[in-house]
Amino acid sequence: MRRKIVAGNWKMNGSKDLVQQLVGVICDHAGSLDAGAEVVIIPPAPYIPLVQQRADGKLAIGVQNVSQWQSGAYTGEVSAEMARDLGCWYVLVGHSERRQLFGESDEVVARKIGRVLESGLTAVLCVGETLDQRDAGEAEQVVAAQIQKGLASVTGEQWSKVVVAYEPVWAIGTGKTATADDAQAMHAAIRKVLEGMNAPAEEISVLYGGSVKADNAAALFSEPDIDGGLIGGASLKADEFISICRAFPAGA
Ligand code: PEP
Repeated sequence: MRRKIVAGNWKMNGSKDLVQQLVGVICDHAGSLDAGAEVVIIPPAPYIPLVQQRADGKLAIGVQNVSQWQSGAYTGEVSAEMARDLGCWYVLVGHSERRQLFGESDEVVARKIGRVLESGLTAVLCVGETLDQRDAGEAEQVVAAQIQKGLASVTGEQWSKVVVAYEPVWAIGTGKTATADDAQAMHAAIRKVLEGMNAPAEEISVLYGGSVKADNAAALFSEPDIDGGLIGGASLKADEFISICRAFPAGA
């Protein structure tokens, strides 16, 4: 049975005050968030210990990026082992902002996936097409290639530590969301690609990301192949984020 997950990616936003306030409010509601869904906070790396302290075991914590290397003379990098040492469970890999702004190729993404899985953490592989690619009818092909290359070296039991986040680039931070039908169609296609890689496709959580808000989360989370969301902007607003965490259909 695959997990339901709502993960809040704070990107490069936040402060010590925001951690105290936002994590405090979310934790106050922790008991009434969807009991079946895991709630994950993914703050900027320096705030991880503070989030952890404030969350006091009520929320899972992730990191937005790790190095493709294990350790050594790589100034400015943070390793997957360090994230594990800090108590993180999840690592975002290949977010479209990393691909676009920092030139991360599928090969780099694959190396990072390797590091994350070796360290025993769960990798959240982010994939998604640009608007031009969608308009050209290439969306499924682009996403399939990102999955096949990014997860090429995943083996056997490691699949239990893989989550895929479908995030159409044109929907991230733009206020435009894929319709629930379009998102469902892509999620079903992603499961087929995973099946083709001999992965336990039915067991792998596939999240949707891209302008998810309190008012569109329920429609998205009702789709059979959408197992939750990766939330950017709305994860910085306590009310919105809490509503999104409660948007799964009853009994899901
Ligand atoms: C994201 O950054 O992963 C994201 C989905 O952002 P937003 O929700 O702001 O579109």
